[in-house]
Amino acid sequence: MAKAAPLRIAIVGGGLGGLAAALFLRRAGLEATVYEQSSALREVGAGIVVAPNMVRPLATLGLAERLPEFAVQLEAAWEFRRWQDGRVLSVQPMGEECVRLYGTHCYVAHRADLLALLQSALPAGALRLDQRCVSARDATDAAELVFADRGGRETAVHADVVIGADGIHSVLRPVVAPEIEARFSGLCAFRCLVPAADAPPMALRAVQTLWLGPGRHFVHYPISGGRLVNVVAIVPAGDWRTESWTADGAIADLHAEFEGWDARVLQLVDSATETKRWALYDRTPLARWHAGRVCLLGDAAHAMLPFFAQGAAQAIEDAVVLAACLRGVDAAGVPAALARYDAIRRPRASEVQLMSRGREIRNHLPDGPEQLARDRALASGDPLRQSAWLYGHDVEAACASG
Ligand SMILES: Cc1cc2nc3c(=O)[nH]c(=O)nc-3n(C[C@H](O)[C@H](O)[C@H](O)COP(=O)(O)OP(=O)(O)OC[C@H]3O[C@@H](n4cnc5c(N)ncnc54)[C@H](O)[C@@H]3O)c2cc1C
Repeated sequence: MAKAAPLRIAIVGGGLGGLAAALFLRRAGLEATVYEQSSALREVGAGIVVAPNMVRPLATLGLAERLPEFAVQLEAAWEFRRWQDGRVLSVQPMGEECVRLYGTHCYVAHRADLLALLQSALPAGALRLDQRCVSARDATDAAELVFADRGGRETAVHADVVIGADGIHSVLRPVVAPEIEARFSGLCAFRCLVPAADAPPMALRAVQTLWLGPGRHFVHYPISGGRLVNVVAIVPAGDWRTESWTADGAIADLHAEFEGWDARVLQLVDSATETKRWALYDRTPLARWHAGRVCLLGDAAHAMLPFFAQGAAQAIEDAVVLAACLRGVDAAGVPAALARYDAIRRPRASEVQLMSRGREIRNHLPDGPEQLARDRALASGDPLRQSAWLYGHDVEAACASG
């Protein structure tokens, strides 16, 4: 009997999700081409928590052992501090406890380093840069994509499988599901990178720290082997509505948001030379992630508020499952394989999306009885164990049973 022709797989978007998908597909014996609109792969954004449910898939790819080359292994996390004086409200030791519970350490990294790690494992021909997807059409026999380069030259590509890994403003999403409305959260995020030499010593510890205060909170942890401190501040948005990770903000505006806070917070802010600022929008889970030969993955499928630090981890879980579903499938079997992927992944990622809502209400309580009750609850909490459903999830087993 003639061997089935290899599947033609096109991945739109070369972010963490798209590259992870290409790598897991290769591991499943499938060749995929990643089409990325930028002319060089670069991660906007700065720090990222590489949670155990992201580290384990990286270990499957043989990449986790390289994390210590650039990432910082967390000794403690969820170190909640009071805004006014830095009093520690609670702290969660990580280290060996994390390994014992979830089989791996938890890291914090620069997103660009993580992206470079994934890219280093891909053969050069698998990535096509300067290819912006401008249209997509699904048909029974093959999907058709059109890409435009910077010079306006268009190329048509036919594929048996199209994976929309093109992020929060996905052009593939409308092919799969009715467009979802983005709901403004009323908040925005400032983000900066501070050279370690300028940061207060407490910010150099291998600890993810969250300062809680009325109406806003402030997060920091070291990245890039400790050479930089990543800062994210969530504050009321005012009239800021731009939802772009590359829009510039003003350090003076960020400073003004934290006037009166502990001096170490302001020292970190004042040590930054630039900041990005974007409005935070929430999205309701999609009703479907696939249609015919086209499916969605990562933020294109499940853009979420950043309060669980899980967007990329969920994208990588998607990649594991999608590759398992497509393994050994011929072109005719693609729609059923994508339906299986959707059935396995959508409920879990949607749950994380929904859980990520509303966190800020607790983090932003004004001083008073509710804040005191929250602080008591934090002191007796056990976030590492309470996160078992996230960090302990066995994505390989989910493929086997789904
Ligand atoms: C403040 C903040 C903090 C976060 N912290 C964490 C964290 O600690 N841990 C965590 O796991 N997650 C975190 N996340 C979420 C995480 O960053 C995202 O979920 C993740 O980067 C999504 O990856 P992706 O590949 O799906 O999309 P993206 O990273 O957005 O990549 C999409 C790619 O597609 C390309 N593209 C777009 N349109 C087209 C087109 N038409 N044609 C071709 N290419 C196209 C883009 O150029 C881009 O390269 C955070 C997010 C925010 C906002």
